[in-house]
Amino acid sequence: MDLPLLRKTLDSLKLPAFRYRQIIKNYYSGRFLNFDQMTDLSLDLRQKLSKALPLLSVVEKTIIGDDSTKKALLELSDGQKIESVFMNYEDWLTACVSSQVGCPLNCSFCATGKMGLKRNLTSQEIVDQILYWNQKIYPKYIGRVVFMGMGEPFLNWENVIEAISIINSKDGLNIGARKISISTAGVVDKIKDFANLDTQINLAVSLHSADQKIRESIMPIAKQYPLSQLKNACNYYVGKTNRQLFFEYALMDINTSQNDAKLLADFISSNRLFFLNLIPLNPIGGDMLPASKDQQKIFIDYLNKFGVEYSLRRSFGQDINAACGQLATK
Ligand code: SF4
Repeated sequence: MDLPLLRKTLDSLKLPAFRYRQIIKNYYSGRFLNFDQMTDLSLDLRQKLSKALPLLSVVEKTIIGDDSTKKALLELSDGQKIESVFMNYEDWLTACVSSQVGCPLNCSFCATGKMGLKRNLTSQEIVDQILYWNQKIYPKYIGRVVFMGMGEPFLNWENVIEAISIINSKDGLNIGARKISISTAGVVDKIKDFANLDTQINLAVSLHSADQKIRESIMPIAKQYPLSQLKNACNYYVGKTNRQLFFEYALMDINTSQNDAKLLADFISSNRLFFLNLIPLNPIGGDMLPASKDQQKIFIDYLNKFGVEYSLRRSFGQDINAACGQLATK
């Protein structure tokens, strides 16, 4: 919801401040699909609000998937489109939210990167993705949020931090900091700023290669922030927060040789709080090929041999084009 517009509307109706708080409370409860359902407001006020502003700033255009994974294409007030994903995994109801329309970082394995950056999302547009899913799954509600959708969250710093404060606030969505995860492609300055915030929010870094040349070839941001700087920032984060730091590694044809496993093992073993998540790549077509089953097995055997601890993540729904940006770019 456009909160400044709500306040302006209420001011123009000369309503007392508690009405604003009452509506906000209703709004973040995620129980209401529209103002008409807020029966603790007068009929007259409900009608005026319905005319003045939509409850959510995102409108569903397409939704695909099944009970365990759904992906929605959502339209914003200026016609731009973003993706948002719902995952129901071992009873954890998780929303994967976008932070930007498109992304400027152009990772070669990512459909969103091909769009370039259209604009940053507002904090409300980020929060409304979660409220959208709450409406979809009511009376259940989202208990975990991951910033792993379209965009680089750390390049939309202010709005993402504001959205997190609403998501985390008792007066907002009341989702605990430990249930929120943010993923960055490796914006080194912001990793340090994030560490300095001293929160319990989980941080993940998309590593995808511990070889500088290969990483540069698949993630252009690696030219701006080489692995040595990234590792320093990650050590700073761990030193400051004493929290585990997760490294995402999508298994591709290009990053699963014995040498890749050795470099990765050295990188991960360099700090006892570094932890590795391996993810099968959702292919988007083009040059970037996922590792075959054989390549995955051989690579994992090497990691075992080098004594690296890891988790092998489920890749959610190739059947729903789950790779970030595939629906929006269609
Ligand atoms: S993987 Fe993430 S950082 Fe890279 S282009 Fe896609 S959205 Fe941007």
